[in-house]
Amino acid sequence: MILVTGGAGFIGSNFVLEWLAQSEEPVLNLDKLTYAGNLQNLAALEGDSRHVFVQGDIGDGKLVSSLLAQHKPRAIVHFAAESHVDRSIHGPGEFIQTNIVGTFQLLEAARAYWDALPETEKADFRFLHVSTDEVYGSLEESDPAFKETNRYEPNSPYSASKAASDHLVRAYHHTYGLPVLTTNCSNNYGPFHFPEKLIPLVIHNALAGKPLPIYGDGQQIRDWLYVKDHCSGIRRVLEGGRLGETYNIGGWNEKANLDVVKTLCATLDELQPRQDGKSYAEQITFVKDRPGHDRRYAIDATKLEKELGWKPSETFETGIRKTVQWYLDNQKWTQDVVSGNYRDWVQRQY
Ligand code: NAD
Repeated sequence: MILVTGGAGFIGSNFVLEWLAQSEEPVLNLDKLTYAGNLQNLAALEGDSRHVFVQGDIGDGKLVSSLLAQHKPRAIVHFAAESHVDRSIHGPGEFIQTNIVGTFQLLEAARAYWDALPETEKADFRFLHVSTDEVYGSLEESDPAFKETNRYEPNSPYSASKAASDHLVRAYHHTYGLPVLTTNCSNNYGPFHFPEKLIPLVIHNALAGKPLPIYGDGQQIRDWLYVKDHCSGIRRVLEGGRLGETYNIGGWNEKANLDVVKTLCATLDELQPRQDGKSYAEQITFVKDRPGHDRRYAIDATKLEKELGWKPSETFETGIRKTVQWYLDNQKWTQDVVSGNYRDWVQRQY
């Protein structure tokens, strides 16, 4: 069994679904179900005994310790976090609490559990920490993409809290010998992405006839990766990564935000044309930029590709098409999120 934290969120739920599609090994899924946690993402696993869901906080050391003692996982894959930069600007407290203090409590529980394991199992145990490229700060246009050796220069409360958690994970390896791995990934997109983030927000607003908001001049560059490729990268690192190492995960897909939105509009124009025959691009609206908005992120994933033979399976074009199609096929999912209905699932299912 593996323990996944934050497995009801966007990437975590994709990871759990992919994991159970590819192996029989059960997953213990610990998620607090904040606004970002949605059990509807895991509806396909209803009745599947390989998926054990527990609603709880990674910062609850007692709970985590008892889960570890009871289920004896061979690995922890740690996704749980507050993840939205805008929210971190308006209220950083939760980010410090979950991303830093929560990760610390999880590490403490993991360390005690790992310490008590028999020597043979100790060597095989893994704590994989899922992190972001935003810890490296912002790039100028002419800078090379982020490598694992780049200096940490986080600029938002979100990225600072993730940077702190990365350092804690690193320290637990160097100080206590905990067998850790860290991955730093670029921006993800794909199914089950909460519609506060750019790509699902644009798809939702376009279909609802609402404005498509673009921060500032829209020339901020992000490096995009289809979520299932992120999941396969994490899996590869879990299987073969060298202990204590960090691995960047990215798809070499640098795009300006405005170009992403135009691509989405063009894909929607083709798959679900507007009734008036005009392009969805007519709905693009420029809004005031976010304070401290990083200009460019770009990930150099050479280490993961060379050492572990990982390659993304989707290009930006194929991944975006799949994503738009998924949102067209699953409009009820978005409606339930937007209306808040998805929260009822906790009462109905567990
Ligand atoms: P998300 O916000 O969609 O999901 C986070 C999940 O964690 C939710 O299900 C939430 O309920 C849960 N959670 C929050 N606080 C918790 C707590 N205290 N205890 C237990 N569960 C808690 O986030 P995401 O986009 O899926 O990101 C997952 C991880 O990947 C994060 O660590 C994030 O920093 C990292 N990451 C995200 C991206 C991206 O583009 N989204 C890119 C690189 C790295």
